[in-house]
Amino acid sequence: MRFSPVAEIRRSALHHNIARLRAMAPNSKLMAVVKANAYGHGLVKLASWMDQVDGFGLARIEEALALRESGNRARLVLMEGVFSEADLEQAAQHKLDVVVHDEQQVRLIEQAKLSQPITIWLKVDSGMHRLGVMPADFQRLYGRLCEAAQVAQPINLMTHFASADEQDNPETQRQTDRFESLTAGLPGERTLCNSAGTLTQSGAHQQWVRPGLALYGANPMVGGRAADFDLQPVMTMRSKVLAVRALAAGEPVGYGNTWRTDKDTRIAVVAMGYGDGYPRHAVSGTPVLINGQRYPLVGRVSMDMITVEVGQAPVQVGDDAVLWGQGLPVEEIAECADTIAYELLCSTTARVQYHYID
Ligand SMILES: *Cc1c(COP(=O)(O)O)cnc(C)c1O
Repeated sequence: MRFSPVAEIRRSALHHNIARLRAMAPNSKLMAVVKANAYGHGLVKLASWMDQVDGFGLARIEEALALRESGNRARLVLMEGVFSEADLEQAAQHKLDVVVHDEQQVRLIEQAKLSQPITIWLKVDSGMHRLGVMPADFQRLYGRLCEAAQVAQPINLMTHFASADEQDNPETQRQTDRFESLTAGLPGERTLCNSAGTLTQSGAHQQWVRPGLALYGANPMVGGRAADFDLQPVMTMRSKVLAVRALAAGEPVGYGNTWRTDKDTRIAVVAMGYGDGYPRHAVSGTPVLINGQRYPLVGRVSMDMITVEVGQAPVQVGDDAVLWGQGLPVEEIAECADTIAYELLCSTTARVQYHYID
């Protein structure tokens, strides 16, 4: 028996979540966002499990080229666009859609000699102020792109929400209104919604929704849980108990002796640490499932191990532990570490083994 973490990845959960998102946005096409190694789940494998989606969203050209190399022929969208003529030509050759979010990228396209026209998504900054052309520049840049022989017409349109994960934040509607009024009457398809928008902004679904996190079975809403939207976790992070210690009351546990027993108790040591992607800032009290029961993590997270108080429960070396996933919401673990589910899923390190369950 090996005592190392395994990320179990379930195809049935992925398919369930895709069906849920389809049901929630029945009139929209689905662009599955698979950037950052499919949120830590494995890019090529997960994309190969998603033949029922209409396209994929990626952050970087390397990710899209890796998908093409694997034989993926789907529509791929580079959501940050490209930054050199060589990459623009690669995008054209490999039929990658590119997002255009500033004037430099417009100039790059105008000056390029491409083997074939490229499909673009002009991104509007409707208020997040990260990427996108400012509303005041929109008409002018849109007009230039309409004139460019390098651009396949019509031009598609996009924006991104800053706060859609906050249920009652009125800024999301304001962003929607700005985008709609700016782009009213133009041909081309539109996309606004990330997972949070797909789940809660049915009025903004337009022709394409582009969820990431929800595909993998986590709820992006602040304080939310996957079950609120009947989503299922695709990843379950599992490991094993590698030692069990009996300690008297008043004894410290772990680096810095930051936590002490308050009674005679037992501590299970689980093979999972920040060197595997478990968050070092998880506080004492963060739940860990051992043999299907919740117990509190105690003391500091180490590189290769965590310590868990199991009291007098019959926990033994070799028992199964779940760090997040089935039976233990990743959103809850993220809250205990003052972070978000996205970061936990993406942070899995290279020494964690992946077990794909078809
Ligand atoms: C990451 C990303 C998404 C997906 O966001 P989720 O919150 O994971 O659904 C959608 N659109 C853009 C532009 C992104 O960068």
